[in-house]
Amino acid sequence: MITERLYYADSYSTTFEANLISTTTVNGAPAAILDRTCFYPTSGGQPHDTGTLNGAAALDVIVRESDGAVLHVLDRALGAGRVSGQVDWVRRFDHMQHHTGQHILSQAFVRLTRAETVGFHMSPDSITIDLNRPDLAPATVDAAEDLANQIVTENRPVRAWFPADDELAALALRKVPDVEGKFRVVAVEGFDVTACGGTHVARTGEIGLIKVLRTERRGDILRVEFRCGGRALRDYRLKNALLHQIAAEMTTGFADLPAVLAKLRDENKALRRDLRQVQALALAHEAETLWAAGEQASGVRLVLAAFAERDAGELRQLVQQVIARPSTVMVCAASGAKAQLIAARSDDVALDMVAVLKRGLAVWGIERGGGRPSFAQGGGGAVSPAEVQAALQAAAEHIRQAGEYHTSEDGEQCAS
Ligand SMILES: [Zn+2]
Repeated sequence: MITERLYYADSYSTTFEANLISTTTVNGAPAAILDRTCFYPTSGGQPHDTGTLNGAAALDVIVRESDGAVLHVLDRALGAGRVSGQVDWVRRFDHMQHHTGQHILSQAFVRLTRAETVGFHMSPDSITIDLNRPDLAPATVDAAEDLANQIVTENRPVRAWFPADDELAALALRKVPDVEGKFRVVAVEGFDVTACGGTHVARTGEIGLIKVLRTERRGDILRVEFRCGGRALRDYRLKNALLHQIAAEMTTGFADLPAVLAKLRDENKALRRDLRQVQALALAHEAETLWAAGEQASGVRLVLAAFAERDAGELRQLVQQVIARPSTVMVCAASGAKAQLIAARSDDVALDMVAVLKRGLAVWGIERGGGRPSFAQGGGGAVSPAEVQAALQAAAEHIRQAGEYHTSEDGEQCAS
């Protein structure tokens, strides 16, 4: 049998008595079918009600396609007999405010822009309508919002009923459903008439504020995110608190925040540019100091350097600057969780730095690494400062023992 839907006639009742007609399961959960119910089942963009039946929590409420019965999906099965139902009012009223607010906002867009509402979505974190005109200017959206709120403050009656056929023919419906037989109509007096099976407030004043939060163009549609009543207040409260918090941290009034943030962004950009210049100078100075402290070995200047955790990119830049000097070989390493070892030489030294690198990495027991004959790099594992020293010494020993390196402008000669 088809469940009698008590909310059609009265959205405000939250308690009711009913008879259990049958039981079934939905995805393994017990579900009850009653002869009558106040529970709104998910449909028409509006989520289902929550509440209890004889103390069992209603987890979901859905319409069975085959016969239109309302299935109350519960956290436990009901016993036979009478059922006392209780609908959660806070959630119901939130849906009533938003569904009525949606009708008004949709009609406001029709009146001002002829934009039709082609979609409606309501969930705990988002409420949207989709308009079939993606090109609406912000001022037009503001005007629709103003008109909607005017209808709210006029506190107009809202009526929901099943009109007879002759009455229906005379109604100018904003939206005609593609359903067989009789359907329900919801009218905001003197403003909007549309087909709808949802739950609504009795007078528009109960909706409270209707606020558009943002619009988003999605292909041929404009998605309009909005809030009504209690949710609009909570949204305002949250954003007001956030704005004041940010303004306090910036030590300015919130109206001045855009200018203050723009100034901060520009200052940040300038500071980054200055910092890069200072870092370049510091790196050049460090390279000069390291090179000056290097030893003469096998006819080249050998520069050894150990670092604690250091950025790999910065380390490479430092090495490039040192080996820009002629007849120079540099081996350096940084300890830490992702240790790095670099072995490099100036172009005029004929020495395979990949072999030098491998000698150092062998001390760490790491095989990951390689590069060009003039610049090789490896590492990646966790290495202590003592192990860094050991690797540097092993690499340096390899260089010292290899004998004199003939150097040339093209760097193609081999060790003697
Ligand atoms: Zn509705």
